Amino acid sequence: MEINLISDTVTKPTPGMLEAMMHTKVGDDVFKNDPTVNELEAKVAKYFGMEAALFFPSGTMTNQTAIKIHTQPGDQLICDKYAHIYNYEGGGVSFNSGVSCKLVDGNRGMMTAEQVEASINPPDFYHSPLTTLVSIENTTNKGGGACWDFTELQKIGKVCKDHNLKYHLDGARLWNALVKKGEDPKAYGKLFDTISVCLSKGMGCPVGSVLVGSKEHINKALRIRKVFGGGMRQSGFLAAAGIYAMDHHIERLAEDHRKAEEIGEVLFTLDFIKKVEPIETNIIIFEIDETKMSSATFLEQLSQNQVSIIGMGQGKLRIVTHLDYTDDMHAHFLKILNRIG
Ligand SMILES: *Cc1c(COP(=O)(O)O)cnc(C)c1O
Repeated sequence: MEINLISDTVTKPTPGMLEAMMHTKVGDDVFKNDPTVNELEAKVAKYFGMEAALFFPSGTMTNQTAIKIHTQPGDQLICDKYAHIYNYEGGGVSFNSGVSCKLVDGNRGMMTAEQVEASINPPDFYHSPLTTLVSIENTTNKGGGACWDFTELQKIGKVCKDHNLKYHLDGARLWNALVKKGEDPKAYGKLFDTISVCLSKGMGCPVGSVLVGSKEHINKALRIRKVFGGGMRQSGFLAAAGIYAMDHHIERLAEDHRKAEEIGEVLFTLDFIKKVEPIETNIIIFEIDETKMSSATFLEQLSQNQVSIIGMGQGKLRIVTHLDYTDDMHAHFLKILNRIG
């Protein structure tokens, strides 16, 4: 049995999703004539109680577009040192927008409102870059799937209002946070200027991300998406997968969270494992005690059992549970872990 726990992006469309994709109506979305794309965009906008939405090929492109519409070259944005936009988007913040990042030393990818406020450059001090945007991530990727406390997000929102800053949410895995915390997506829609969500992570779609915001922001995003080369034609086939995922794959994320917790419980009992970071959603980050077993040996033993997980450097390893990680695989994997231990 092959078990791939490298990421929640390794999923393949389910039969139901493929069926929905095969039987949808499409048109040319560059002319805004694809009924299924229009339906998905309306559905996501309504879900967050926001005015408009735009379908994108990737989460990187949604974030980069949001940064572009909220900033001018030379500006500075504030984000946590673990932020995906800073670490894993190929330097796009500077390449696409000519913007620098003020990095905050937060906790598992999450910063406080005080830290954000302290990072704002005084707007009349023209020697330093003008701060115009705060970007946060929920759940945090490098922070191990951690979920924010919503009241802290509101406090940061107030700091943004007080200082005339735009507020963007990289919500690639926001679905996981909503399910975990039982939160209302519309509360997020009220708080942020723009939100990006991914359909190709825990949601099981082959491709797709959506940016949500005001009509004005989404109109600007349409132009930027064109400039970035992200206009797609009969993308309704992909949007149909997104609609299907929103109808069928949100609530079940709780199952991924439960499995992650159970894996964590086993890891915790293994004596060659030094530390397991708190597990809130579907990501497990842990460290091996290299004096007892090297990470390479551990990965090798897993691989002999047809299990793949990923190393994150500095002795840290990562496991991510997802839609294609079945109950059978889960039972089998827990057995393998106990055997290695
Ligand atoms: C995956 C991810 C993205 C977007 O990634 P793509 O691979 O471009 O879709 C953005 N932010 C976070 C936090 C992510 O985990």
